[in-house]
Amino acid sequence: MDEMQKMPVLFLGHGSPMNAIEENEFVKGFRKIGEALPKPRAILCISAHWETQGTYVTAMALPKTIHDFGGFPQALFAVQYPAPGNPELAKKVKNIITKTEVNLDERWGLDHGAWSVIKHLYPAADIPVIEMSLDYRQPAQYHYELAKELAILRKKGVLIIGSGNMVHNLRMVDWSHLNAPGFGYDWAIETNEKMKDLIRHGYHQALIDYQAQGKPFQLAIPTLEHYLPLLYVLALKEEGENLTIFNDELIGGSIDVSPNIRTSS
Ligand code: ZN
Repeated sequence: MDEMQKMPVLFLGHGSPMNAIEENEFVKGFRKIGEALPKPRAILCISAHWETQGTYVTAMALPKTIHDFGGFPQALFAVQYPAPGNPELAKKVKNIITKTEVNLDERWGLDHGAWSVIKHLYPAADIPVIEMSLDYRQPAQYHYELAKELAILRKKGVLIIGSGNMVHNLRMVDWSHLNAPGFGYDWAIETNEKMKDLIRHGYHQALIDYQAQGKPFQLAIPTLEHYLPLLYVLALKEEGENLTIFNDELIGGSIDVSPNIRTSS
């Protein structure tokens, strides 16, 4: 792969799977960022919804659309996102990562953490997409360091997307306020603001040591999988790069569809 202008890195808060088929402010934000970015050669997505023992990258030519959720309308199960894979890129990822053995996967595909947002960025499904899994046995620090090894791909025209949510506590979602924009529990608002502050100032170590940040952080991050994709993106931000925060809104009081983050040179 030839050198190209360095691609930005994105953290996308995917929120509810319904964002895949609804029209709302978040979706508009995703679409706008898709239009503003240089066209990538391929996408590497780190999704909250693919956790494995060990690290895997999807290596099939035609990844299937996985509907990994329940209790949603049929229209959501009918969505297909037929973007091709990129076996060559999968092998490249395997080769550049030294921190662990990366396994090539032929069985997964694109889970909704990937397709529900990428679909809005690239509706034509004409950019190849591969996913890299999260090794659930590993702590935050490990993931942050692993992510740094992906940096070289940015110069090869690969758009790296972390798809998760910064504040994500499904157990505490207030379903009655699900459609009330701007509604958030105090702890969720506090954590959201503090996280953004740490992100803007580049205090990544404090974000990696999230358990030391007090009760609100612990409520916002009851499990790691939705938070880790953020750490991948922060690890890939280089010194002097700009960082933009967009789509900043809490839903159901305890999930945010973001803030979404974009780095650019
Ligand atoms: Zn999710």
